[in-house]
Amino acid sequence: MNDPLPSLSTGVAGNSAVDSAGGAATVQSAAAAPVLPAASQAFSPSAPGGGTAAAPGTLSHGGGGQEPQRDLPANPGAGIDYRRFLDCIHCGLCTAACPTYLELGNENDSPRGRIYLMRAVTDGRLHLTPEVQRHLDLCLDCRACETACPSGVQYGRLIEPFRVAMEELGVAGRTSQSWFHRLVLHGVFPYPQRMRPLLRLARWSQRLGLVRLIQAARLTRLLPGPWRQMVEMLPPLPRPAAKLPTFVPAVGARRRRVALFTGCIADAMFRHMHWATLRVLARNGCDVVIPQNQVCCGAIHLHSGAGTAARTFAEQNLAAFEVKNLDAIVVNVAGCGAMLKDYGHHWHDERQAARAQFASIVRDVHEFLDELGLVPPEGKLPLVATYHDACHLGHAQRIREAPRRLLAQIPELQLRELPESEVCCGAAGTYNLTQPEMAQRLAERKVRQIVATGAQAVLVGNCTCLMHIERFCRAAGHRLWFAQPIELLDLSYQGQRPRL
Ligand code: SF4
Ligand code: SF4
Repeated sequence: MNDPLPSLSTGVAGNSAVDSAGGAATVQSAAAAPVLPAASQAFSPSAPGGGTAAAPGTLSHGGGGQEPQRDLPANPGAGIDYRRFLDCIHCGLCTAACPTYLELGNENDSPRGRIYLMRAVTDGRLHLTPEVQRHLDLCLDCRACETACPSGVQYGRLIEPFRVAMEELGVAGRTSQSWFHRLVLHGVFPYPQRMRPLLRLARWSQRLGLVRLIQAARLTRLLPGPWRQMVEMLPPLPRPAAKLPTFVPAVGARRRRVALFTGCIADAMFRHMHWATLRVLARNGCDVVIPQNQVCCGAIHLHSGAGTAARTFAEQNLAAFEVKNLDAIVVNVAGCGAMLKDYGHHWHDERQAARAQFASIVRDVHEFLDELGLVPPEGKLPLVATYHDACHLGHAQRIREAPRRLLAQIPELQLRELPESEVCCGAAGTYNLTQPEMAQRLAERKVRQIVATGAQAVLVGNCTCLMHIERFCRAAGHRLWFAQPIELLDLSYQGQRPRL
């Protein structure tokens, strides 16, 4: 198997050559790396810079100035502002923060390597081979590299549009538009009303012992990969919580008027968390509206490359929330919050300003309560807990201290720091379904760290991370209590304790 960047030295040398001169040096660096093609080979039939007229639908660079304008048919990097690639100074400080590099030690699976690959494809120096795609697909989009980068590289704004373009241009035999993506990831997950009957069926199968039987007989092995992952990751399903109201009034004097974003998977599987959030917001003096016509944030589609469908979801949410009458749109799922906050950046059209206005009032629930000033919870919770920084909270939204500050106010709660708290657990939205091997490696790494803290409770600000870590904790025989921090606050306000 040829790796585009088999070693650190090859990658950096190639990249340096590109920076300094482009053109001839590029071909030279291409010769040095095993699968880097000569420039004339790339993007056949029309070579970059060869004067071929752009094909219909060709994208062009959105900015730059240091590189000549290129018009490359089927070039997934062509719509990206080229200056974003140039922000990377190849220092490598991000590599130690990258979960896939930590696990594999391969430069191609590091942020620096992936930026190099995307840029080389954009330049036309590298074919978008299945091997190159594999390195890009293995990225969790956790954005730990952004936190670590001293040069301010906005990695998410490289990988996300690059993936979207790979899908939309249909390059090099992409498989992610497979039936699983169309049917499940795109056709069911974003729609709570479609998920609920399936979850009911799963719950009854669990109650009747069918799931246990299937697992004991190892029949799940007969299922195709992603289906097997779905069956195995399902936690024991409780009775679904009651339907959410359209409005919850503040307790006491009103301090803010906010709306709750309920999402899709969260609404179908974690409604109890929404109820806890509503109670905590009301207890903190907030009138809360819950728009009934809101929809999925669009992250599932966007992160699997379906940008147009994601934009449709965004527009539906803009119509559902009366931004002018709200102080904030509060989100209790980190992945959704990160997506909603990026509505103003993902698409460049005449609606961009409206989406940016919507994004400007989106707040993660911990961030919101921390800014507002928490009404001190009084119920004692004498237990040892640890907190995992979900990537889309810690890295994408840079919210690390707010949840800790809120939890510190719960009487008698002992919060133990989790080593490598900021390293992705492998859930990463639907990554655990599409890249199960790496997802499992990272989850098992996380479980080892959690167990070492001696905590009884594990707190996570993102429900898919929570489900993913809990699955591997269970599999390893550890019985820990998992919840979102907001649920613990709710228990404290109510004077109740978790059933450990
Ligand atoms: S830390 Fe930033 S500048 Fe350095 S290699 Fe990584 S992405 Fe590039
Ligand atoms: S987003 Fe995460 S997995 Fe992807 S390159 Fe950055 S640190 Fe690595």
